[in-house]
Amino acid sequence: MAQIAQKHGVKKVIKSKSMVTEEMRLNQVLGEMGVQSIETDLGEYILQINDAEPPSHIIAPVVHKDKEEIADLFAKVHHKPRLTDISEMTREAREVLRPEFLSADMGVTGGNFIIAETGSVAVVTNEGNEGMCTVMPRVHVAVTGIEKVLPTLEDLATVMRLLPRSATGQAISNYFSLLTGPRAQGERDGPEHMYFVLVDGGRSGLIGGDFQDMLRCIRCGACMNHCPVYQKIGGHAYGWVYPGPMGSVLTPSYVGIANALDLPQAATLCGECNRVCPASIPLSDLLRKLREKQMERGLRPWQERLGLQVWGYVARRPGLYAFAPASARACSRAWRQQQADCQLADGWPRLDRDPRPAGTERTHVPRTLQGKEGPLMATTTSNAPALASMRTALDQHLGGKLAADGLVRSWREAAPGLVLPPMFGQAMEELLRRLEMSAVFAQDSCSFSSTAVTDQLKRWLDKAATA
Ligand code: SF4
Repeated sequence: MAQIAQKHGVKKVIKSKSMVTEEMRLNQVLGEMGVQSIETDLGEYILQINDAEPPSHIIAPVVHKDKEEIADLFAKVHHKPRLTDISEMTREAREVLRPEFLSADMGVTGGNFIIAETGSVAVVTNEGNEGMCTVMPRVHVAVTGIEKVLPTLEDLATVMRLLPRSATGQAISNYFSLLTGPRAQGERDGPEHMYFVLVDGGRSGLIGGDFQDMLRCIRCGACMNHCPVYQKIGGHAYGWVYPGPMGSVLTPSYVGIANALDLPQAATLCGECNRVCPASIPLSDLLRKLREKQMERGLRPWQERLGLQVWGYVARRPGLYAFAPASARACSRAWRQQQADCQLADGWPRLDRDPRPAGTERTHVPRTLQGKEGPLMATTTSNAPALASMRTALDQHLGGKLAADGLVRSWREAAPGLVLPPMFGQAMEELLRRLEMSAVFAQDSCSFSSTAVTDQLKRWLDKAATA
């Protein structure tokens, strides 16, 4: 990139959003060369004028900021009266950016896909700034990862059915450009020079290995939208370019497992990411593999390794496994008798009575799911029979009343303080909002991979919405 800029005497670069250029720290590199680099995606622009803050989401980079914060920032940086109307704020940003488009020497865009058959780059955006970046400057550089090369236009058609739907819920993005080379003789617009920069950056190291599946990632962001951990901690906590479950696998794969020890642990392994991934990447399996590799290489703290070894020893011996919680409870009772005011051992699970782990299914039911007449389910469960019993309980608790007394009103009456877990996702939130229902999202709720209960609730809500 530096050579291209030097070759063409570039002084000013305009950029559209590209996560690969975040990987390359392109803005910093260009800045060190004395080349001004200006982000033109609105979200990226907001971050850049806020002291080059990193994005927190791969599709919505500034999702962590609210309108008021951005209004303050614009007033401070643009030296204009503070606006709070979103359309006016957007217009102000466009007015600031327009002269930059007209005076830039080079435009840098990402490339959602490269098509080998035609030598084209496909660029998917919703803002239209990409069109200005590719048409106005005399040089256009499309930067993308090597895994984004598709054989044919037919393959592009297939992935384009997946990307906008999974990224933003659109059938097609507002803008979709297929660019094949610089301006030809007789054409009125387009750059004089066009370059493709294909970035490896650790990608080829994944080929043939345990994490090869990640090369199918089309960067839609669906996994992070549905991840209960991402929803709680936001994108910056992941420490590098890619947040969410895909980032928790990609970052250790690119920068080294030893350099990203916490990321594979930042997962409930609930499996929501697997379910929503349009590329069917088994993210939770890959996260588990990373944990295994950390353990094999002795990268976890000794206390954790020792604890797991002890647990493994006990879990392989059913007699000991059954005895352990009973003895722990006896100890806890003895402890509490001795120290009546000590709460340390409260809530010790009744492992002898509660369901045992069942196969590979890993299910947690939120402990706070409650209805009018008290908790519907107050235990943490881990198998299908428990889920079935929860479904039956919900059926009895809500279904009868819904049928008897009109849908929406009865829903509110039946479950005024219903606490819903976050994995119900944006569609559910929207539906609840439309029904003017108050959904309290539990601070401490866990997620579960089974969709049985979720589906049941969705059916009820769908029914209520159309009633
Ligand atoms: S891992 Fe799957 S869901 Fe996540 S960004 Fe990649 S393609 Fe989308």
